[in-house]
Amino acid sequence: MTEHVTSEQIADAHAGLLAAPESRLVTAHLASCAECAASGDQVASVSRILAGAPAEIIPPEASAALQAAIAAEAARRAAAAQQQEEEPARSADPLLRRSCTPSR
Ligand SMILES: [Zn+2]
Repeated sequence: MTEHVTSEQIADAHAGLLAAPESRLVTAHLASCAECAASGDQVASVSRILAGAPAEIIPPEASAALQAAIAAEAARRAAAAQQQEEEPARSADPLLRRSCTPSR
């Protein structure tokens, strides 16, 4: 086999979609060709990422709840930052106050 294998062949081999003879040819080529082995590694990593990704789309209500939670947290932090600006001496947590004071 003198021709390089295609990324489709590599992906199919990884997924177990090739017939045994072709799968053996692809595997043998990958073992002897650094160029195709490198693209084989890329195909394998993409396959791993896709395998780990959730197949279903996030439901709209979950997405809305997430957006609301993020907005609430952002508002809470903004309010806390504003309060700290207004009365920095009254911060209840001395550790927090120290970590927020710029070091000189
Ligand atoms: Zn090759």
